[in-house]
Amino acid sequence: MPFVNENFLKLNKNYLFAEVANRVRKYVEKNPQARVIKLGIGDVTEPLPVCVISELKAAVDDMSRRETFQGYPPYEGYEFLRKAISEFDFKRRGIDIEPDEIYISTGAKEDTANIQELFSIHSKIAILDPVYPVYLDSNVMAGRTGNFVDGIYNDVEYLPCTIENNFSPYLPKKKVDLIYLCFPNNPTGQVLTKDELKMWVDYAIDNDAIILFDAAYEAFVQQPGIPRSIFEIEGAKKVAIEFRSLSKTAGFTGTRCAYTIIPKELYIKDKDGNKYSVGDLWLRRQSTKFNGVAYIIQKGAAAVFTEKGQEEVKKLISYYLENAKIIREGIEALGLKYTGGINSPYIWFKVPDGFTSWQFFDYLLEKFQIVSTPGVGFGKSGEGYIRLSAFGKREDIIEAVERLKNFK
Ligand code: PLP
Repeated sequence: MPFVNENFLKLNKNYLFAEVANRVRKYVEKNPQARVIKLGIGDVTEPLPVCVISELKAAVDDMSRRETFQGYPPYEGYEFLRKAISEFDFKRRGIDIEPDEIYISTGAKEDTANIQELFSIHSKIAILDPVYPVYLDSNVMAGRTGNFVDGIYNDVEYLPCTIENNFSPYLPKKKVDLIYLCFPNNPTGQVLTKDELKMWVDYAIDNDAIILFDAAYEAFVQQPGIPRSIFEIEGAKKVAIEFRSLSKTAGFTGTRCAYTIIPKELYIKDKDGNKYSVGDLWLRRQSTKFNGVAYIIQKGAAAVFTEKGQEEVKKLISYYLENAKIIREGIEALGLKYTGGINSPYIWFKVPDGFTSWQFFDYLLEKFQIVSTPGVGFGKSGEGYIRLSAFGKREDIIEAVERLKNFK
């Protein structure tokens, strides 16, 4: 009998959202009449843009004719989609990212979890705290994090994002090799200014580090001066990989299409100093472990990168940002301290004294039938916070805020 991969035994027993779902299921079983409003998991509710739907349908028709039928897609994605992304996401914004620096995938979750395979097991990692749990867990599974003691893994350099630093992390105290950044941040909803992000790029240049920049929420950035891509920062192409996704941008959480940018000038070395292209290594990894994104989905995705698609996506984002505004105002009226909800679909607030995150999660569920996400599920520094998500139907958001008015 094979032995278990003991790295898996070091993981938190439950994936955060599985535990949230579990508690909600138990509550609903006990209270079948309750009308529960879900502001927990960040899943979209609005339909796909009309132009995406019509391209998806046309692509289905392509598959019905021998002349236009498509088999296995290219590992790195179809040229038509990579060109469209290069043009709309980058060149039009003055950033030089070429189609062959873009790798299409089914999700930023997959890519942010898998990218660590390219780096030595001895690489020192720095991770925001709190943050989307996938970066940490994928490194735990790989065996890069050491042991879990008192709520932290002892080989990880945590970068606390707390009220003290306005949720903008300080540079690492120890030298690190890989830095996971996520802005606009999940869960705090905070963003970095250009100067703040430049400080990280400069750190990476000075310390031979690589930044793994998760920009899954870039489409929510509204304020001028806040970067939507790390490649807006000079020098970033030498030190950064960026993960982008259509999940939140265009409602693709169930349709699945994302893309990772690996600049051609990004290299890593072996211990003898020989250089290797990170993009080549990634393609080698993908071609062994991944068989590409369906033609139909990539056709639908390409519709996002058209004039019409961009307009429709803007409307989708505005809808969720208006939800965020309603939640923000509701939380503010309760006198609770919060951040986020301006360049982000997430509102992050401090729970009242005397509650832990999970206790307040239970309280919101039992008293108001509102599902939230407990901050501590995103890391130790998230204790005492709750995340509310603006992904929801407008009427549910309004009702949730109305219910919360009875909170005292
Ligand atoms: N990155 C962050 C920061 C997220 O919050 C999420 C999903 O919630 C993802 C990535 C996952 O994106 P995808 O649906 O493209 O896998």
